Amino acid sequence: MNGTGFIGLGNMGGRITRRLVEAGHSVLGYDPAAGAAERAGATPAADVAEVARENDLVLLSLPDSRAVEAVVLGEDGVLAHARPGQIVVDLSTAAPDSTRRIAAALAGRDARYLDAGISGGAAGAEKGVLTLMVGGEEQALDQARPTLTAFAAKIFHMGPSGTGHSAKLLNNFLNAVSLAATSEVMVAARKAGLDLRTLLDVLNSSSGANWATANRFPHIVEGDYLEGGLTSTLMTKDVILYVDHLRALGVPSLNSAGPLASFGLAANLGYADQISNRVVDAIGDITGGVRLHDEPEGTVTT
Ligand code: NAD
Repeated sequence: MNGTGFIGLGNMGGRITRRLVEAGHSVLGYDPAAGAAERAGATPAADVAEVARENDLVLLSLPDSRAVEAVVLGEDGVLAHARPGQIVVDLSTAAPDSTRRIAAALAGRDARYLDAGISGGAAGAEKGVLTLMVGGEEQALDQARPTLTAFAAKIFHMGPSGTGHSAKLLNNFLNAVSLAATSEVMVAARKAGLDLRTLLDVLNSSSGANWATANRFPHIVEGDYLEGGLTSTLMTKDVILYVDHLRALGVPSLNSAGPLASFGLAANLGYADQISNRVVDAIGDITGGVRLHDEPEGTVTT
């Protein structure tokens, strides 16, 4: 395929672009945030249209389906420039229904749309070891694969259009539940006077083990929140998309209230645009200011 274009150079897109550039790809990038393309090592494009015109492979990493629809279906967007053989890979976490509509619109111009949910977060993007779960034509995935392997260690083809984003929503719901529940447990453990490092060793050897106990809280108890990853705003968006998806499937969602309440609380207490791991501080705030770690000397707690 000729060049690689990238639209949406935020926490994930910026890091993925950096990996692509380091792997020797030249990337034409667009993001309305000033300097985002340069920071990621991409050649800055003037607008979405320039990226779509100049590249046979276009990658998107945008906040939600509304932004994806604006970029692809909007005036002078990707669809307006789509052509036979062009492949668009949507790395955003988005609504499968919207994804299927966009894929059909691009198919009308003989271009292909792959919905590629990603997991692994900012750290996985930096190391180039993300996991991709991809919906859409397998042949198009095979064509895009040499580029995708610059930032993904595992690539799963899930089935037809929409199945990649569906898999991503199901995974993220479990991530949201385990992060919210573990946060509550860790605040309770602090109040109970338990040694948190020992408790994490216990949990990780017991049936309570999960991604948060294994990979998040060993850092959080040291005061490292792993900044740069998914915010509480985006986490809430993912859970709402999950609930919508289940409603469309006719499956009752009996467990979504907990994470919606927890990440909604975090957003309302001022952590909306910080990493979703800060939900533990939000729960700590309404428990009288509990923190899992000792504040560094000189820190003023307001
Ligand atoms: P982000 O908010 O940091 O980045 C989104 C970028 O899109 C921003 O730079 C913004 O300026 C840009 N943007 C918004 N509207 C645009 C438009 N119309 N045209 C061009 N650019 C536009 O978000 P993020 O954390 O990088 O997440 C991006 C997507 O990846 C989201 O759908 C998120 O749910 C998903 N995701 C994030 C993580 C993570 O750990 N952060 C992990 C997996 C999936």
